[in-house]
Amino acid sequence: MKTSPKGLTPSEYIGIESELGAHNYKPLDVILARGEGVWVWDTDGNKYLDCLSAYSAVNQGHCHPVIRQAMLDQAEKLTLTSRAFRNDQLALFYEDICALTGTHKVLPMNSGAEAVESALKAARKWGYEVKGVPEDQAEIIVCENNFHGRTLAIVGFSTDPTARNNFGPFAPGFKVIPFGDSEALAAAITPNTVAFLVEPIQGEAGVIIPPAGYLSAVREICSDQNVTLILDEIQTGLGRTGKLLAEEHDGIEADVTLVGKALSGGFYPVSAVLSSTEVLGVLKPGEHGSTFGGNPLACAVARTALRVLVEEGMVENSAEMGAYFQDALSSINSDVISEVRGRGLLIAIELTEEAGDARNYCNALQERGILCKETHLKIIRFAPPLIITKDQIDWAMEQIRPVLAA
Ligand SMILES: *Cc1c(COP(=O)(O)O)cnc(C)c1O
Repeated sequence: MKTSPKGLTPSEYIGIESELGAHNYKPLDVILARGEGVWVWDTDGNKYLDCLSAYSAVNQGHCHPVIRQAMLDQAEKLTLTSRAFRNDQLALFYEDICALTGTHKVLPMNSGAEAVESALKAARKWGYEVKGVPEDQAEIIVCENNFHGRTLAIVGFSTDPTARNNFGPFAPGFKVIPFGDSEALAAAITPNTVAFLVEPIQGEAGVIIPPAGYLSAVREICSDQNVTLILDEIQTGLGRTGKLLAEEHDGIEADVTLVGKALSGGFYPVSAVLSSTEVLGVLKPGEHGSTFGGNPLACAVARTALRVLVEEGMVENSAEMGAYFQDALSSINSDVISEVRGRGLLIAIELTEEAGDARNYCNALQERGILCKETHLKIIRFAPPLIITKDQIDWAMEQIRPVLAA
C-alpha cells in the first residue's frame, strides 16, 4: 500500500478511481477532503462554496456540529439492532417527525429510492386491500422527466434514455403523463389507478416548476378519484424551497410524502415514507422491511438534523436568501442566460442555445471557488446549504457574474 502523510495527488486519486471504480458518474475533478458549513476544501487546501449541497442532502451545512455530536454520542451507545428488536430511538424519531410534518404514520428506510419503492409497494397493497382493485391490475401514474432514483422499478418508469436503456425488462403497471398538466392526470386515471407519484418541483429535470394551481388541482383530482397522492419531496423537502415541505407553497397535503437526503443532514443515509394511517396501515409484520431502516444511529441523527433545521431558522433563511440569490442572478446582464428560476434555495440558470455546455461554466466557476453541477446540457443548479448568508451570496455573485457575463 502506497501512503504518504499528504495522501495521494489529485491525478493519483482520479487514476485509481478510474481504474478500480465503475464509471457511473462523471464528477468534477476536485478531490474534497473537508467540509464546514457552506464551505468545502480540496486536498490542496483550496476552499470552495458548495452550491450543490450533495443534491440537497446537506441542507444544514457540512459537518453541522450539533448533528455530529448526536451521531458521536449515539455511536458510543448503540448503532444497529435490526427491527427484530426495538430500540430506544425509533419511537422518539417517530414523535419528532410526526409532530413536525403533521404525519400520522412513518416507515423509516435508508436511501431515497428505497422510500420511493416502499411507497409504491404500500400504495399497490392499499389499492388491492382497501380500494378493491382486482389482483395484479394496479396502475400508478408518474410524470415525464421524473427523477425518483435508480432501482429497477424506478428506472422502468423514467423517461430519460440514459437512465433506462438496456436495463429492462421493466415492471409493468406504470403510466407516464406530462408534468404540470392536471388534465392529463384526470384523463389517465382509471378505476385501477392506485397512486400518482410526482415531484412538487422537478429537481433533476432542471428545477422545473409546474404552473400555478397545478398541485392543488392534482390534490383535488386524487381526492375525487380515490387515488393516493405521493409527493416525492426527497429533494424539495426539509427547507430547500423555503418551506419545510414544498407542498406548503400550494397549501395542500399529500397522502404520502417521501423525504430523504437532508433528513440526516448528510451524515448517514436516512429516508422515510410519511403517510396517512390508511396507506401505511396496510403493511403487516413480515411484508416489508430493511435491516438498517429505523436503526438507532439513523434515528438519533435524523432527530437532530430536523431539530437544527427548525431551531436555527434554516427554513426561513432558505426563503429569504433564496429570494436574494435569485434576484442577484436575475440581475446579471448576459447573452448566455435564457432564464433564472427557482424557489427558496433551489435555483437554476438555463443557458441559451449559443452558450455552449453548462459543464464549461461549472468548470469556470470551480476555478473561482464555486462548486456546482450541471443538470442536462444547458442548466446550472445553485442549491447551497440553507445556512448561507447574504455576505456569502455577495461573494458568490462576484465569482458568478464574470463567468456568466462573459
Ligand atoms: C435524490 C432523489 C431520489 C433518490 O434518492 P437516493 O438517496 O439517491 O436513492 C429520489 N427522488 C428525488 C426527487 C431525488 O432528488
